[in-house]
Amino acid sequence: MVISLLSIMHYTIKLSQMRIGVDLDGVVANFTKGWTEQYKIEFGKEIPESDITNWGLSKPLTHFNTELDFWNWAKDINGSSIFRNLETYENSVKVLTELSKEGHEVVILSSKPWWSIHDTLMWLGENKIPSREIHFIEDKWKVECDAYIDDAPHQIENYVREVPDKLILRFVREYNRPVKGAVDINNWMELTSLLEEHNL
Ligand SMILES: [Mg+2]
Repeated sequence: MVISLLSIMHYTIKLSQMRIGVDLDGVVANFTKGWTEQYKIEFGKEIPESDITNWGLSKPLTHFNTELDFWNWAKDINGSSIFRNLETYENSVKVLTELSKEGHEVVILSSKPWWSIHDTLMWLGENKIPSREIHFIEDKWKVECDAYIDDAPHQIENYVREVPDKLILRFVREYNRPVKGAVDINNWMELTSLLEEHNL
């Protein structure tokens, strides 16, 4: 009885201290929908999500010759960047809010370009993302968390290489692949049970 009570207490304490490192684009913010809709408006070509099977936004996916050409377009859409008006993925804010209310820390880890920072801060506020800690950083693994969620192949690989003892979650998208050492998550409703399963 004492042992089981202690283990419950330990479990509760551990859960209350959890820091969850959350990427934005492709995880919370539907960047794909945002840019493909705008692309269709401006260039007349529909790009279905199922066609985006690799990381990268230049040719042959779009007409842009280089990634830089894509970003030069995406940084100024009617005076705002593409990041200004992205929709959130289904249940993402709901689940993050529940976790936050339970005492977990939602740590935003984004590698967005410098010119998108003010738009992103407004977006985080408007969409009521429950975070007290926001990092714009390329080496995301340097921000210590218990679990990390990302969709970018190179970020998932960085996490597995640099902090393999942490729970690394690959948000499954058409453009990423399974990574050894990372656990797949298909939708936001799976997050809480994944965190519990891995005993964080
Ligand atoms: Mg991302």
